[in-house]
Amino acid sequence: MRDPRHDILFQPIQIGPKTAKNRFYQVPHCNGMGHREPNALAGMRGMKAAGGWAVVCTEEVEIHPSSEVAPAQEGRIWQDEDIPLHARVVEAIHEHGALAGCELVYNAPRTNLYSRMVPMGPGPGSVISGAMEPQQARVMDLSDIRALRRWHRAAALRARTAGYDMIFVYAGHGLTMTQQFLSRATNQRSDAYGGSLENRARLLRELIEDTRDAVGHDCAVPVRIAVAELGVKDGLARAEIEDLIGMLGELPDLWDFCMGSWPTDSQTSRFSPEGFQEEYFRGLKALTSKPVVGVGRYTSPDAMAALVKGGVMDLIGAARPSIADPFLPLKIAEGRSDDLRECIGCNICIASDNQSVPIRCTQNPTMGEEWRRGWHPEIIQPRASDARVLVVGAGPAGLEAAHQLGKRGYAVALAEAADRLGGRVLAESALPGLAAWRRVADYRIGQIERLDQLETYPASRLTAEDVLEFGATHVAIATGADWARNGFGRHHPQGFDIAPGATVLTPDDIFAGARPTGRVVVYDDDHYSVGGAIAELLALNGARVTLATPAPLVSNWTVNTLEQGVIEARLVAAGVTLATRTAATSVGPGGLHAASNVTGTPSVIEADAVVLVGNRLPRDGLAKALMSRAADWADAGLQSVTTIGDALAPAMIVHAVYQGHRYARELECPPDPDVVPFRRDLPR
Ligand code: ADP
Ligand code: SF4
Repeated sequence: MRDPRHDILFQPIQIGPKTAKNRFYQVPHCNGMGHREPNALAGMRGMKAAGGWAVVCTEEVEIHPSSEVAPAQEGRIWQDEDIPLHARVVEAIHEHGALAGCELVYNAPRTNLYSRMVPMGPGPGSVISGAMEPQQARVMDLSDIRALRRWHRAAALRARTAGYDMIFVYAGHGLTMTQQFLSRATNQRSDAYGGSLENRARLLRELIEDTRDAVGHDCAVPVRIAVAELGVKDGLARAEIEDLIGMLGELPDLWDFCMGSWPTDSQTSRFSPEGFQEEYFRGLKALTSKPVVGVGRYTSPDAMAALVKGGVMDLIGAARPSIADPFLPLKIAEGRSDDLRECIGCNICIASDNQSVPIRCTQNPTMGEEWRRGWHPEIIQPRASDARVLVVGAGPAGLEAAHQLGKRGYAVALAEAADRLGGRVLAESALPGLAAWRRVADYRIGQIERLDQLETYPASRLTAEDVLEFGATHVAIATGADWARNGFGRHHPQGFDIAPGATVLTPDDIFAGARPTGRVVVYDDDHYSVGGAIAELLALNGARVTLATPAPLVSNWTVNTLEQGVIEARLVAAGVTLATRTAATSVGPGGLHAASNVTGTPSVIEADAVVLVGNRLPRDGLAKALMSRAADWADAGLQSVTTIGDALAPAMIVHAVYQGHRYARELECPPDPDVVPFRRDLPR
């Protein structure tokens, strides 16, 4: 039964002419599918609605080709022909009684790589572009502003035709034209749209009034707005936001608060705790009679209830927690909070959008696969036989495989060499800031404990003989990988020379407790989180650390997770010396020998110890030993041995979970290898 303290989360809320059945509100979020994959999108949004979210919104939906974000895959509602694809998404949301929200956007000036239209903005500033296109906007005149208003109105009417219940005016995340007009940082106009706050808010006011006039009788008109532009000279700040809500507070049907840029809003758990945005939202609700909503990566129902009771917000906004667990509301409603698959705040989902590929989630391997593979986050097909399955290795791959096989009803044994289950997740979550990553293991261990037909055997390092003796029908080898000690990495396919007597460590040594002191070089040729986090750990432990990397940026891949800048700042603050574009040539007794990979200029970084963070080597000894004894399988009753996760191909945790999940789904019902293994949204 539900905890009565959470009852408040299930009260209906009036949003203009519409009623949300509870307070769970999936804020608009990008997903890398957008207009290109409408069926996959409908499958994903529909799953959220099935999971109990009262409001399910789109990603940003472009209203006009003069501000489009190609190659990013967002929504489009440029013309009537776009309506049927939106209607499909709306239908999937309505099927489960949720309200469908459409986040219309006229973007801040973008490159318009697809439409090739000249970008326009409040001033002649540069376009927003990760690739730093040397391209500027033309300044909008009054006829441009009138045109923008017409386009927004037309898009709102199309969105209503598609069936949306809520049609947004969006002024958030540093991505929108309305925010650029609103902020003194980007608006230096001297006409009726510049200068005073009233003037800078004129476009926002007009768009709210236009939208209300066009669709307000039938649809709610929420405003999603940035309440703080952190670190921006003359950016939006508290006093102006309070004045703004004082001026416009009653115009929309709901206020949806966000931060002034995506990186400052979607911060990872490494740098910000759950609810860090609250200090920026708190108190704003008192300035309007309309309901307010905000996000904070909330996964604790107690924290959610406290926010409502404390008058901070009326609805609990969530993007990432709804991705990690689309069934979060239903689980809380049924008093099953222990079953929540909590977001770990890693931003792999965001990386997918930044890479313009379908959304992936570390915690929820079914995310983005609802339609194309028919995967449901909570339901899996029953077992195909009475086979016994042995899973060797309890890292993310083994844990996910065992959990899902157990749910299918197989008799499963999960053997793990270490005393505790969790594999690499236990090690990496002990690095500075990464504690929330433990949730990958904790969730699965919690679920496994409830499955009667699943036995776990910690402290059990299995040999091929042990496996054959065990008598399983199917064996999954999920034994993980070891960090290479010879310099093998992205830039060094053959490794490099290491002088005898040089002190060389790998992350495995650090995880096992090694803490080199004195002068330490961390050589990062992996480029994700571990290298930077180890450098930070050792510096905090008193070592004089240099982080060297052949990449142009430290922790280069984390550009995708919106973390790179903060990681670099954190390293500098910890006193770490940074040496980028520095490729190792060897490790000598006195330190790392390197050369600039731009000029070739050699250098020596003196060090007492070098930590090599490069590639990993699959721990495939057990798999190979079993393969070499194929002749003994029949006597042992063994039919298949399959290697999964890092033991097959080392990669990020998200991939290990996914491969574990796929193994469990496909055991005894393998896909035809000659057929594309998922449905595609093909253009018609
Ligand atoms: P993945 O990311 O693929 O799940 P991990 O490295 O996180 O890989 O986990 C692999 C796990 O397998 C580790 O916890 C390791 O202790 C365990 N392991 C490795 N070899 C054996 C073995 N022979 N028997 C049992 N467990 C093993
Ligand atoms: Fe959360 Fe990571 Fe999943 Fe995104 S990918 S929803 S941050 S667990």
